[in-house]
Amino acid sequence: MASKTAKKQVYLFPQGNKDMKDLLGGKGANLAEMSNLGLPVPPGFTITTEACMQFLKQKRMPAGVMDGVRAAMKQVEKETGKGFGDPKNPLLVSVRSGAKMSMPGMMDTILNLGLNDQTLQGMIKLTRNERFAYDAYRRFIMMFSSVALHLERSNFDKMMDAMKKKRGVKQDTELTAADLKALVAQFKAFFKAKMKRDFPTDPMEQLETAITAVFGSWNIKRAVDYRNQYHIPHDLGTAVNVQTMVFGNMGNDSGTGVAFTRDVATGEKMTYGEFLMNAQGEDVVAGVRTPIKIAKMKTQSPRIYKEFVTLATRIEKHYRDAMDIEFTIERGTLYILQCRVGKRTARAAVRIAVEMVGEKLISKAEAVMRVEPDQINQLLLPDFDPKEKERAEKEGRLLAKGLNASPGAASGAAVFTADKAAELGLGGEGRAVVLVRPETTPDDVHGMFASKGILTARGGATSHAAVVARGLGLPCVAGCEAIRVDEEKGRLSADGKVLKEGEAISIDGATGEVFAGLIPTIEPNLTKEKELTTLLGWADKIRRLEVWANADYPRDAIRARSFGAQGIGLCRTEHMFMETERLPIVQRMILAKTSEERTKALDELLPFQRSDFIGVLKAMDGLPVVIRLIDPPLHEFLPNHDELLVEVTELECRSPKSPKLKKARAMLAEVEGMREMNPMLGLRGCRLSIVMPEIVEMQTRAIIEAACECEKKKVDVHVKIMIPLVGHINELRLIRQRLEPVAKRVMKEKGVKVDYKFGTMIEIPRAALTADEVATEAEFFSFGTNDLTQTCFGFSRDDAEGKFLLKYVEDKILPDNPFQTLDQKGVGKLMETAVKLGRKTRPKLELGICGEHGGDPRSVEFCHRLGLDYVSCSPFRVPIARLAAAQAVVQDKVAKSDSR
Ligand code: ADP
Ligand code: MG
Ligand code: MG
Repeated sequence: MASKTAKKQVYLFPQGNKDMKDLLGGKGANLAEMSNLGLPVPPGFTITTEACMQFLKQKRMPAGVMDGVRAAMKQVEKETGKGFGDPKNPLLVSVRSGAKMSMPGMMDTILNLGLNDQTLQGMIKLTRNERFAYDAYRRFIMMFSSVALHLERSNFDKMMDAMKKKRGVKQDTELTAADLKALVAQFKAFFKAKMKRDFPTDPMEQLETAITAVFGSWNIKRAVDYRNQYHIPHDLGTAVNVQTMVFGNMGNDSGTGVAFTRDVATGEKMTYGEFLMNAQGEDVVAGVRTPIKIAKMKTQSPRIYKEFVTLATRIEKHYRDAMDIEFTIERGTLYILQCRVGKRTARAAVRIAVEMVGEKLISKAEAVMRVEPDQINQLLLPDFDPKEKERAEKEGRLLAKGLNASPGAASGAAVFTADKAAELGLGGEGRAVVLVRPETTPDDVHGMFASKGILTARGGATSHAAVVARGLGLPCVAGCEAIRVDEEKGRLSADGKVLKEGEAISIDGATGEVFAGLIPTIEPNLTKEKELTTLLGWADKIRRLEVWANADYPRDAIRARSFGAQGIGLCRTEHMFMETERLPIVQRMILAKTSEERTKALDELLPFQRSDFIGVLKAMDGLPVVIRLIDPPLHEFLPNHDELLVEVTELECRSPKSPKLKKARAMLAEVEGMREMNPMLGLRGCRLSIVMPEIVEMQTRAIIEAACECEKKKVDVHVKIMIPLVGHINELRLIRQRLEPVAKRVMKEKGVKVDYKFGTMIEIPRAALTADEVATEAEFFSFGTNDLTQTCFGFSRDDAEGKFLLKYVEDKILPDNPFQTLDQKGVGKLMETAVKLGRKTRPKLELGICGEHGGDPRSVEFCHRLGLDYVSCSPFRVPIARLAAAQAVVQDKVAKSDSR
């Protein structure tokens, strides 16, 4: 048990500093820092977060706190020359909550505490302003009653409104001293009726009540909900700041405001903000009167403006960051009441970081740390023009809201089939189209390519539409249940409205919103993002990890390269099988009864695959390309079982003798024969290649032929053939033994030597645990962390995310969705083991990750610490990963110097 005297519970401002946020809260720590800088901060003190937590545990004011408060108050009285409760020269204070991070739900500020009928007289005499004094008094009674004692504020507002009506005035400021005096009496009477006691007159009692209320506000529902949502611990507590009042409502040489040292939206260096003449703090927030822009102050009160800019610059220089500053002017004297690091948009964050390096305020490494990697996504995706979006909202064009499946905004003509999209969209007539489907399947991919965005009525964040859209960097709203799609008639209905084919529709994949009509978008352009390119350039110099991209098509590869990818970490070959003209050949190949039949179909597929690979290899000239051999179970290339069953049943009734029925029956039999209870754990990956080696032999031939042809054209090729789903060394050995001769044979035929390697995915726990053996046959490892997570947890991702995983995260059974952020303890342990064992066998073993985690900043940091050579992610996340990889290095250095 802590002894009563051991812990200091109350700190005068000069006793703290900005690094004491845990104990003094953000507001208190910065008030302390500014006091020590000699800035004009009204004197005061802070009661610690520890005292708050103690209060919440004991459910009463902890011993010693009020003694500390009284002692601190003595000091403040000394410094201000005023007395708390002294009728001749009264000290009034504000009571302000302040947790470590700013948090909505915490208690509102109480101003003018210390007023009673006696001190009021003192105020009147001192200021010779009766109106001002009564205004302060009525505010205090109202705030104290509503904020600290939870009497509905609206009761007081009603009395105010009635008074204004009676006097025939609109503004609070038009009420006279006598009006306000009458209101004070009414407020007190109301208080007495409700609380069955007089309004407290003892200032110290007022203060204790207010402190108690701030402590208690830590646990009100709104605050608890907020902390849950943002993963903020519940045991931090809030500090309480008690501070001498200064008055912005003393006339037209007084006022109050908030300013930012740089423009929050653009990051431009300028004093930016708003202020209100003749007002107290709460008026700005309440929006009773419209504040004016700080820039206006320049002409209205140039002296104060200059003083403010000087102070703001000093604060910014001291904190070396863009700051958010609250200030009040009392009769021409400026006071600073709060400062904190200002919140900003992604664009502003980047610009501020880069410009502060130019101003020699921060180092390049610091600049790299100043931007959240996930934030820069915003700069790389199209976004609605904010004014146009606002207009659409005002015009009531918001149709529905679905799942925000892939960020970015898109606007264009609605089309309801993939073929129509291909006809009208990119590669066709070149119009902007948005593909609207009940849901998408691999058959729709060509239409998705041609579209600006995808909207589906069904399916979640891992539906086909969502996954493909994210890979392509296309905006996507999925699972928008409120819309009904009628593809036959070519229209959709939602919210009582109907949109026909060709009519404009707009979707925001970051928010899930769907609008009728066109909303112009602002297109991103990395090369035009000068500041971002500069910042990423610094990141590149710092980071050790390489950043590669997952790209299946040449156009993805080109884009990935333009985003700074240093290789392709995963080129999936099966998407190529799905395309309309190829699928029938693929099906023939699968259904073949003899090896010759199969080989014949494969011979037809070979030129397709070869030309795909040539495209990708050319695009990546000089850089490594990892091509994964076929991975999914074959049934994915055949018609859906249930749909076939329906077709057969229908045909049996309608035309039992038709040849169509015969064909459908045969297909059904095939599909049934291939059915698996659990395809995820069934015949796929290397297992399939062992049972049916012809496919991977063809693929290897296509890869090496493509490589030879590229080499002939002076393209610098480094190709790596990746064998998926290996669990046992013998699987890998067997396949490699079959494929190595194919590669050699092709090179001999073509008379060209190419740089190629064979390696494997590590995505089955057994492979990770026996990585020393696996490495004898694998020249590289790539962690397939999606499957590795599935097999490590024993989750099937689609079932888990649909049924229980989100609940797991909500109820904190798991800290995060392990498919989004790598589970470092479990899956990470497998990776660590594989790294260690693999490098034991083969010290130069090349190691990478190609799961979706490769683009998740926290997972990137982990990969850095594991010592991987590269991370590979979606092209659109390449810049994010570049930044995250650099941050990992900087953090590493900080951690190392801390432990020294
Ligand atoms: P929040 O945490 O919501 O920003 P604050 O504690 O900063 O609340 O208080 C809100 C406003 O109240 C301040 O911006 C300031 O205008 C006013 N205020 C607080 N304390 C004082 C004070 N001692 N003198 C004058 N105004 C104050
Ligand atoms: Mg504030
Ligand atoms: Mg896999």
